Amino acid sequence: MSSATVRTAGKLDYLVDQLADLKAKGLYTTIRTLDSAQGAWLEIEGRRVLNFCSNNYLGLANDPLLVAAAKEAMDRYGVGPGAVRTIAGTVRIHTDLERRLAQFKGVDDTIVLQSGFTANTGAIAALVGPGDAIISDALNHASIIDGVRLAGKADRYVYEHCDMDSLEAQLKVASGKGYRAMLIITDGVFSMDGDIAPLDRIAELAERYGAITMVDDAHGEGVIGRGGRGAVDHFGLHGVFDIEVGTMSKAFGVMGGYVAAKQPIVDWLRQRARPFLFSSALTIPDTAACLKAVDILEGSTERVDRLWANARYFQARMKSLGFNLGVTQTPISPVILGEAQVAQAFSRRLFEEGIFGTAIAFPTVPLGKARIRVMISAAHSEADLDVGIATFAKVGRELGVVG
Ligand SMILES: *Cc1c(COP(=O)(O)O)cnc(C)c1O
Repeated sequence: MSSATVRTAGKLDYLVDQLADLKAKGLYTTIRTLDSAQGAWLEIEGRRVLNFCSNNYLGLANDPLLVAAAKEAMDRYGVGPGAVRTIAGTVRIHTDLERRLAQFKGVDDTIVLQSGFTANTGAIAALVGPGDAIISDALNHASIIDGVRLAGKADRYVYEHCDMDSLEAQLKVASGKGYRAMLIITDGVFSMDGDIAPLDRIAELAERYGAITMVDDAHGEGVIGRGGRGAVDHFGLHGVFDIEVGTMSKAFGVMGGYVAAKQPIVDWLRQRARPFLFSSALTIPDTAACLKAVDILEGSTERVDRLWANARYFQARMKSLGFNLGVTQTPISPVILGEAQVAQAFSRRLFEEGIFGTAIAFPTVPLGKARIRVMISAAHSEADLDVGIATFAKVGRELGVVG
């Protein structure tokens, strides 16, 4: 043992202990290494497995058109953005992407950030502060929760998941307190159950109490609404819902986040969103590939249509086999199995049978609701889905989950 190891051992013991504790409780995450591009099938540990795990809803993550666009842009602009945009300037394709996204979403303007995560944290912390209130769905994504923490001096209210009586009760309490601004925040599509937030009813309540509305549409973008225009489009609430946060890491198949909103909101975020001011811009290949993804979505609804046809096909057959898919309204297909051990055993057997489907348990989902969350993609063929369904049926019978 080197002397350096001896010296650091003591002060890192708490981490070593915590890691051992995670392992003892079965909560230690190990990550599979892929040796292939994203797609319906993956190469993992020397085996070809059917991919039921990725958010690559439209199969764009390895699309040749996106790859070609990224290469072309790199030939012209190189790879990196140099620095933050406010200091090093912005590359033409960044502003092109913002303009195209604004057209696609039917909003005044958009601001592009490095990820959906930074779009949420940056926007929330910039928009509200002391003397304001945030009213948040109990099951909102971690990046919203972190954004709320960063807006530390704003008061926080949490309403029961998608429960409009609970939201109204919180609005009543908050509206008696004379806040400068009240911001309601919800996921558009909830990623663990696939349910859609009732944005129409949220908008009505917001109107009644004078609150600003914000939706994180990470799982709605490219999936719901006309041609994948997202949750606001799904409900026909253009110009009514104030702020849409999008990610380009899911259906768009690339990386990056954005805020689509009315002009004063986007203008303010360009002045004050900290991930915009203090973190470098999206890279050149990401930006060019995102632009191509917008082109593809604007050009045709074919991929979105195929995604939905696949989802309906899979979900109908899984339900008729007796699997519990919960309350999903989207291609997210949670196969709810109960105890964490059952979900883990199920996932392990699936992998042995050539299906990549990760078990998700507490605290990501409630106790007793552990599941394999199957993510359906337009990249799957009907034959792929048949393989998946037959394997679920086989393992389900083996483990006594279905008859
Ligand atoms: C995935 C996700 C994000 C983060 O998006 P990235 O672009 O991957 O950072 C934010 N919100 C929700 C609801 C998500 O599902």
